[in-house]
Amino acid sequence: MHSYDEFTDRMARAVLEYTYERLRLDPVPLDRSVKPEELDARVGNWINAHGNDPEAVLRVFEDVLAPAVISIDSPRFLSFIPAAPTKASLLFDMVVSASSLSGISWLEAAGAVYAENQALRFLSDLAGLPASAGGCFVSGGSAANLSALVVARETARAKRPWVPRWRFAVGDQSHSSITNTARILDVDLLFVDAGERERLTGDALRRALRNDGDPESICAVVATAGTTNAGIVDDLASIADVCDEHDLWFHVDGAYGAAALLAPSARPLFAGIDRADSMIVDPHKWLFAPFDCAALLYREPARAKAVHAQQASYLDVIHDDDGEWNPTDYAYHLTRRARGLPLWFSLAVYGSDAYRDAIETVLSTARAAAARVRAQPHLELLREPELSIVLFRRSGWDADDYNAWSTRLLDEQIAFVTPSRWRGEPVARLAFLHPGTTIEIVDEILATTA
Ligand SMILES: *Cc1c(COP(=O)(O)O)cnc(C)c1O
Repeated sequence: MHSYDEFTDRMARAVLEYTYERLRLDPVPLDRSVKPEELDARVGNWINAHGNDPEAVLRVFEDVLAPAVISIDSPRFLSFIPAAPTKASLLFDMVVSASSLSGISWLEAAGAVYAENQALRFLSDLAGLPASAGGCFVSGGSAANLSALVVARETARAKRPWVPRWRFAVGDQSHSSITNTARILDVDLLFVDAGERERLTGDALRRALRNDGDPESICAVVATAGTTNAGIVDDLASIADVCDEHDLWFHVDGAYGAAALLAPSARPLFAGIDRADSMIVDPHKWLFAPFDCAALLYREPARAKAVHAQQASYLDVIHDDDGEWNPTDYAYHLTRRARGLPLWFSLAVYGSDAYRDAIETVLSTARAAAARVRAQPHLELLREPELSIVLFRRSGWDADDYNAWSTRLLDEQIAFVTPSRWRGEPVARLAFLHPGTTIEIVDEILATTA
């Protein structure tokens, strides 16, 4: 299993040939020719005592398993938050795998950590955080939110050790991972009503704190820079003011939206993000990196290190030199793959202007789609898109109609579009992220609502 022999060579050629073909798909079709309910009958159990021919195993992946996956990197995938990794980032992910890079510590992996930190510096500068800011890449926004908010709670605990039970103040549109984080940390949530516009403001937060019986127990405020359902950016600057007034940790969840910091047409929405104590952005979403990759940044990384660095005698050696940066110290993980490298390589190859242009293209497509919706009498645009998510209603449709429409779009391989809710009502939702999604695709989709 560990030597490069004739068997390995045959397997390498077959696997590389497959990846070569997969990378060349352009556009990636919305394949799902194999239905999930057929898998039991068509796959069979491949794990036995003796192993199998690698080409046969690869064939079942290629012929049955891969076509049972809805290609998330298709320009016709407009559900949830899609993905659109660049070719360079996908290729370099293969290099990271082939090199067995562990990105735990400077001692083991200085070269990988150095490059990851360049990518983090780029993101930190985009947000306007100070030069001393830093962090690490983790598996996703959920892991990043959890890691940041532990630091927020521990920082408050050091200041007010008598508080028996902590709370986070969050907008009512914050991501589900914040609720999960609170449950994991055994912290309660103060939901602040973001109002009609579903945009959390400093005024609403200030009012909520004033009306609250126990503001001392609040240790952090979570603002969302691009809500997942509607792409709305909270009023970060006014929220930062309130955090200053009350000495609260200011966390910005930009998992989906903060990529638009790169787009001049959207940058003003993020005013105040430079005042965050911690912020996150998922390169595996709108920064076109492969899964799984979230950037986690702290204004004062030393606070995170004090909370997250694992102490064990066999690890002492990685902490001998205070000047050495260990990504493991900045989140709840220990072992980690150097998952920031595909982003670093891709940024280095294409340059940040190409990213800016790709993100602007997506924003334009979303604005054009909104205009198309507005132009159709049987459709109702629910609000102008701030980022790249378009919510609309089809008059006369109930939840079943939206679900049937979604199934039809997928069955006919027109698009993968799943319904959502807006103020409790079922609605259609288009989440744009792939720069290859054209207005013609949008027209094809809208034509099916007639
Ligand atoms: C996607 C998302 C998350 C969760 O990120 P994962 O990478 O899926 O764990 C958190 N917050 C927001 C706003 C998101 O859009």
